[in-house]
Amino acid sequence: MKPVQKNMNVDLTDVPYVKCQYCEGEVFVPAMIHKLVSAIQSPNGQEGLVSIQISVCMECGTVMGEKEPREVNMPDEPLEGDLVH
Ligand SMILES: [Zn+2]
Repeated sequence: MKPVQKNMNVDLTDVPYVKCQYCEGEVFVPAMIHKLVSAIQSPNGQEGLVSIQISVCMECGTVMGEKEPREVNMPDEPLEGDLVH
């Protein structure tokens, strides 16, 4: 298997769509979830809103990649996204 190059100059014709793991829908809509990080938890000591973009299945509303359908609880992992002040 060849690694995908950064410029993504690949023929997508033969590349399968990512499907929803529950309804096999192929259309996802972008959505945002937000976390308010307290000053104690924040790496820079300031309270801030962390916004994380997710993809939601248009058919059943399942968040892509989540373990249970329609569950929006985020696992305790390092924060991603930009801190908004
Ligand atoms: Zn779905």
